[in-house]
Amino acid sequence: MKATIPPLPVVEVAVSAPIDRLLSYLVPETLAEQILIGSRVMVPLGRRQVVGYVLGWGETEPNELKEVTELLDAAPLFHQQHARFYQRAADYYAYPIGAVMRAALPSGLSGKQRAPAILTDSFYAPTAMTGEPRGERQRAILAAVRASGGELLSALRKQFETPHAALKRLVELGFLEVSLVERRRDPFLGEVIPHPVPALNGEQQQVLDRLTSFIDQLPGFAPALLHGVTGSGKTEIYLQSIERVLARGRQALVMVPEIALTPQLVARFRGRFMDGAVRLAVLHSGLSDGERYDAWRAVAAGEVDVVIGARSAVFAPLPRLGLIVVDEEHDASYKQSESFRYNARDLALLRGQQQQALVLLGSATPSLTSYHAAGSERWTYLSLPFRGTGVPLPEVRLIDMSAESASSGLSSSLVESLMATVAAGEQALLLLNRRGYAPFLLCYDCGATLRCPNCAITLTYSRVNGELRCHYCDFRIKPPSQCERCGGPNLLPEGQGTERLEEELHKLLPEARIARMDRDTTTRKGSHLKLIEAMTAGEIDVLIGTQMIAKGHDFPKVTLVGVMNADAPLNLPDFRSSERVFSLLSQVAGRAGRGERAGRVLIQTYAPDHYALEHVVRHDYAGFARFELAQRECLNYPPYGYLANLVFSGNDLAQVEAAAAAVQCGLVSFNSPVEILGPAPCLLARLRGKYRMQILLKASRRPPLRGLLTWLKGRECRVPAGVTLAIDVDPLDMF
Ligand code: ADP
Ligand code: ZN
Repeated sequence: MKATIPPLPVVEVAVSAPIDRLLSYLVPETLAEQILIGSRVMVPLGRRQVVGYVLGWGETEPNELKEVTELLDAAPLFHQQHARFYQRAADYYAYPIGAVMRAALPSGLSGKQRAPAILTDSFYAPTAMTGEPRGERQRAILAAVRASGGELLSALRKQFETPHAALKRLVELGFLEVSLVERRRDPFLGEVIPHPVPALNGEQQQVLDRLTSFIDQLPGFAPALLHGVTGSGKTEIYLQSIERVLARGRQALVMVPEIALTPQLVARFRGRFMDGAVRLAVLHSGLSDGERYDAWRAVAAGEVDVVIGARSAVFAPLPRLGLIVVDEEHDASYKQSESFRYNARDLALLRGQQQQALVLLGSATPSLTSYHAAGSERWTYLSLPFRGTGVPLPEVRLIDMSAESASSGLSSSLVESLMATVAAGEQALLLLNRRGYAPFLLCYDCGATLRCPNCAITLTYSRVNGELRCHYCDFRIKPPSQCERCGGPNLLPEGQGTERLEEELHKLLPEARIARMDRDTTTRKGSHLKLIEAMTAGEIDVLIGTQMIAKGHDFPKVTLVGVMNADAPLNLPDFRSSERVFSLLSQVAGRAGRGERAGRVLIQTYAPDHYALEHVVRHDYAGFARFELAQRECLNYPPYGYLANLVFSGNDLAQVEAAAAAVQCGLVSFNSPVEILGPAPCLLARLRGKYRMQILLKASRRPPLRGLLTWLKGRECRVPAGVTLAIDVDPLDMF
């Protein structure tokens, strides 16, 4: 009898193109054994060849199908569980799956795998062999390697002239083992802070016990919010939970808002996990494409126990994930604000559900969304109300600027406190959330300001750089000497940015060592770290900065925190502005008094009666949340309602308006319970040369909102060429 030929397998592929569904391809016989879920392949699409990711097996209908052209990597880059997660993410955010894959996988994966261009170094480690070799030189080198527990060749070269022959002999004799290690220019390497393991206090122990009970039940999804005041020992809880997760043979993913801003945290993790057998991968922006690719493959192969990374680490393909930590979960940088607009915090929860893991969100100022969720039955709410060191939270005082005498925006009380702090040999932080010298140049003759030609915004003046610059599109010009409109000579900087504050503070405190930390002073690699090190070493008395200085730093000698212009953001037309102000001020206040001495916080404001500020003074998160949540509920805003923002943009305003109007018509015809607000010009009505209109969708339940989004994604409602429609599900900014 003739054997029937088994049908060739069909794979479902996400292609790198704006296509909302998976495409089916036939696997050619030559690749049948090698192609798996998670494989990266080349496939034909029209007349092109594009990269695709195999996400599943398909139905056999060979006649109509094209074949996979090529397999790009030896091993799959993720597993089936991850494939499902990526698809759910695409679905949730109404974003094409191929583009989701592009965001999820490390960049530099566009072409065929290139030869790794990583510098390596030989690492010599002592073996268990006892006794001594004969040669004197060999003995000396062996003693050095034994003393340090292992040395890089590059390090040995510094101690011994041309040690190579002796090392070779020591390896032959079995005294040393040699392995190759990657030598990276890794800003986090070599910078390990040994951090003593503190004995947990009662509250910490209770929290850890609760978490341990979930860890003991892994696999199993459990969402938890760790609400701990600044310095309460959240990081310590993360570390000890991770140890327990690893002990159960599972892996951990730790997410931080911006890894470049958190070298201290990363160093603590390295310090804790360095000596053991724990394999730690830090995914950060300093990695080259090749290194990123290698790290990704190691993770997918299950060779990494703990991954630390920012937003995009939520896609890291850990196969035995037991715990996801989202540190500073309230931080807005978890939300990607362009193209694939996901929120890594929310995806962490989705992922935990999918991989049956414990998801631990930590913050001193939880997002109201998480805080509200944590009140539900499914969640666990954990609280650390006191500082680990036992020092009380700092005293916070509001300075009513309408009643105080001030020079250059600095009240006399703040100046006096700064002087006293510096005189006492302590440190101060000064927050002004606006960089540059001044937010704009103003013509004192006709009132004109200098605006960006591409964006609906004034140009920020930087004296240090001698230029005017747009912080959105990076347009730059030299400051003109006269007004473009009236020709007058009186163009003067108006308002205050960090540069100007620094200049003025130098005048007021000529003896003090003053430094500035903002995007402008931290663009060069390592410059941020240098500032942190200088602060830690006590080489800076006053550090001025934007919200960057509020992020998680632990400077024990800071006893004073000053805040300029605290209420400016309260005037923004955004329902989250109070939450943001409360959070930023509480966070920056939390930088004071982390050492042995208690701290003080002075907040300058024109709105001392605002509830957000009043609650900051009392360190009363719960009170603020109660008040704010009640308002949100009335207005049906998140976390009670659900939002999606549709942003239309294009070079031609009439075309953008027409497209937005057409979509609005379509949406209205559905008669759905979703509120359709707009179209209206975006707050930033022009950005990078494009006009922008938005339609805000607001619903009290998610399903009808999803219904509309599905329709939008479909073919019926393609906006005309020249106009782009971006869908922002759960938007954070109303720009
Ligand atoms: P968070 O992450 O909440 O800001 P950390 O874990 O960084 O808190 O702890 C803040 C400081 O308090 C650290 O220096 C830490 O070593 C110390 N600390 C935490 N728990 C204790 C404890 N039980 N006893 C003594 N010191 C502690
Ligand atoms: Zn611009």
